[in-house]
Amino acid sequence: MSKKTVTDVELKNKRVIVRCDFNVPQDENGNITDDIRITSSIPTIRYLVEQGAKVILMSHLGRPEGKADMKYTLKPVAIRLSELLEKVVIFISAPEVVNRQVIEAASGMSAGDVMLLENVRFRKEETKNGANFSKELASLADIFVNDAFGTAHRAHSSTVGIAEYLPAVSGFLIEKEVKFLGDAIESPERPFVAILGGAKVADKIPVIENLLNKVDTLMIGGGMAYTFLKAKGNEIGKSILDEEKVKLAAELIKRAEEKGVKLMLPIDIVAAKEFNNESERAEFDSGDIPQDWMGLDIGKKTAELFREEILKAGTAVWNGPMGVFEMPNFANGTIKIAEALAESNGVTIIGGGDSAAAVEQFGLADKMTHISTGGGASLEFLEGKELPGIAVLMDK
Ligand code: AMP
Repeated sequence: MSKKTVTDVELKNKRVIVRCDFNVPQDENGNITDDIRITSSIPTIRYLVEQGAKVILMSHLGRPEGKADMKYTLKPVAIRLSELLEKVVIFISAPEVVNRQVIEAASGMSAGDVMLLENVRFRKEETKNGANFSKELASLADIFVNDAFGTAHRAHSSTVGIAEYLPAVSGFLIEKEVKFLGDAIESPERPFVAILGGAKVADKIPVIENLLNKVDTLMIGGGMAYTFLKAKGNEIGKSILDEEKVKLAAELIKRAEEKGVKLMLPIDIVAAKEFNNESERAEFDSGDIPQDWMGLDIGKKTAELFREEILKAGTAVWNGPMGVFEMPNFANGTIKIAEALAESNGVTIIGGGDSAAAVEQFGLADKMTHISTGGGASLEFLEGKELPGIAVLMDK
């Protein structure tokens, strides 16, 4: 079911509190080193301003652990926001986030004014979804807008608790995430293929379980592939292995067969003797990895097979690198997959985290249909879970 957005509610003269994701990277002097999270929030904020709302923004930044640690103040964000919006952004650095001064400033706002609250994680109640803090935040406004997809899988005061006290809708960023990720999973153009990689099998098992009910083809690369190769009886040498998950991997392989899902594992791999970029390297077929070698990337034949499958896809979803792409000598598989997705004429969805970073790093971001901004959140979406920060929004 789709959720109400900022375009579905009357905004004129309303006090609107917006949960943004301003968790930006900073250097040791507090300078913002990448402001994409701020720039991408501008369309929602500008829309609210144009509609004559009084706009109160809130976000977390880093992990101040429930204390007013000024290392994590949102002041630099307020300055950058003000430059981008070309207007004053009221900012009161209140250690309590909401105090008398903030309440007075909020009630004195005029239509079109913008204010930013201090880091919501200065309050220990925030990550516990404490009712008192949720109420304090809600007391500042008439409407709640959630536009922070990266924290939508967390039930915190500023993402979930506040919605108990205010009508709640999504901003444009969450609307876009739900549209692309939701459509891809629920009504994909077929063939629907998924490419999964990364190291932690345990994290990806629920994703595989859900996707086996949805996709036509599932390709598994990265460190997690070795647990599946082992489950098929292959020798995997010193490659990363989740021993406890071998049985489950075997079950999933069987389930894929029963469901008619084409499950593809690497047929060849790039291996190294040591876990470092300068290590001696060699390519082996997946069944022939010598005992003292470890697989650190998919091989050329596998990359080509995966590429062909991606080019046939109506929809392709990718989450997790194909190898240790941080080391240039083991980045080829991940590059090849990103390039195939860029070449595809189908819908291409990149889950957040490492795959999103890889696509950006290779300069291919503008060739994708959608790159999710939330690592953990997009993974939970692919697991078929309803994210708490989205569940609380009003249905259309
Ligand atoms: P995850 O957090 O589970 O998505 O894993 C991402 C990490 O997996 C990246 O930092 C990669 O370097 C790592 N990775 C990918 N392939 C391998 C591999 N074959 N062996 C060890 N680590 C890997």
